[in-house]
Amino acid sequence: MDSGWSELITMLEYKSEWYGRKFQKVRSYYPSSQLCTACGYNNPEVKNPAVREWVCSGCGAKHGRGINVAKNVKQEGSTLQRISTNETNGPGRKKPERREQGNTKSWKHYL
Ligand SMILES: [Zn+2]
Repeated sequence: MDSGWSELITMLEYKSEWYGRKFQKVRSYYPSSQLCTACGYNNPEVKNPAVREWVCSGCGAKHGRGINVAKNVKQEGSTLQRISTNETNGPGRKKPERREQGNTKSWKHYL
């Protein structure tokens, strides 16, 4: 119908993908080494890099630092994947407002 409109849709799809990745990057600062993969208990002592292994006070599970981080990062990643999929395809998705027809610069500004 209108090349400007389809270009806008493409831009929005690209942008939401980009924001998803950015978000994923930010969330990698999540204190994952402190969290028990079994019960989610947060052990602040694990902040100390000297702590290689720790036993969860919540459920008693034994954790090796590296393995625990990997597990939590993997869990976080898949959660975020689900969240971003829901955001882009879910019923809450809003149609972008069209502003100032014919002026491509103005709508790009609002993205
Ligand atoms: Zn635990």
